Amino acid sequence: MKGMVRLKKQIVENIMSNYNKKRLKAARDADKRREQLYDKVPDMGELDKQISLLSIKLSKLYLTKSENMEEEVVKLRNSIQSFKKQKSDLYAKYNIQDNYLDYDYECKLCNDTGYDNDGKRCKCFNKEIIKYLYELSNMIHMISKENFNTFDINVFSNEPYENEKYTPKQNMYNILDTCEDFCENFHRTNLNLLFYGGTGLGKTFMCNCIAKELIDKEKTVLYQTAFNLFEILENHKFNRQNETEENRMQYNMMFESDLLIIDDLGTEFNNSFTNAELFNIINERLITDKKTIISTNLSLEQLAQTYSDRIMSRVFNNFVPLKFYGKDLRWESK
Ligand SMILES: [Zn+2]
Repeated sequence: MKGMVRLKKQIVENIMSNYNKKRLKAARDADKRREQLYDKVPDMGELDKQISLLSIKLSKLYLTKSENMEEEVVKLRNSIQSFKKQKSDLYAKYNIQDNYLDYDYECKLCNDTGYDNDGKRCKCFNKEIIKYLYELSNMIHMISKENFNTFDINVFSNEPYENEKYTPKQNMYNILDTCEDFCENFHRTNLNLLFYGGTGLGKTFMCNCIAKELIDKEKTVLYQTAFNLFEILENHKFNRQNETEENRMQYNMMFESDLLIIDDLGTEFNNSFTNAELFNIINERLITDKKTIISTNLSLEQLAQTYSDRIMSRVFNNFVPLKFYGKDLRWESK
């Protein structure tokens, strides 16, 4: 919980700092327009100067409480009005819009503050959070193409396949059910998912579907191929001095993200270091109640041969194994 809070806090801080930049830019742009306007229409600058002088006079006048104050106030106000009238005539003459010098905020709902008048998060704030989560996930390009909306069950054959009990299509319906259930009950479930089977059968596609569903609910998701995952781990462990900000962020997310997707497990260079680290990640995430999806082209037997017993006992006890089979659909061809 703490990790997720920390990550979200950082995201919120980044967003607030962006809002700040946007407001500054709006002010700067308006100032620039004002300067240009005064250059083009010097009378306008003079009028603005007069109006601001008279306004100061007016507020001072209220403080003096002199005898003829009321009279003076009326006089000043009339002058101000007359200058304002001259201004709007100039606007009309030069065909300038009334709001030309207003701050042009990107979001008109919250004026780039992120909050509406009731102090609630603006729509644009929520959108920003989700945008960040997409970027952090490493999936931004895949998710737009591959999600539950673009998933086509009809590419799977309804003919019996080898010795399997279900046809590939029936099997995919079952997988789909489990995955949708996983997303819907993400808070409550303590199960994780293990996708296994050959290439081109939709494993990565299904990972993308789940990631999009959860990111849109503002969950933090990190996608990594096993190869990259161990590279990040190595950089973090053995090259700490030169570690990039991005590497550290990704490393933290391995432990802190609500969902970690490890794709292509088994394609990394497997050794005692990767075995120990993999155990550490899986174990740590189980303890802190964070969800993990592992996707692999290896069979369950091959997994058991490749990874240590303590990894496999964690996986077999805490992951729902989902077997992908059928004809290669070339979805995942690399
Ligand atoms: Zn807004």
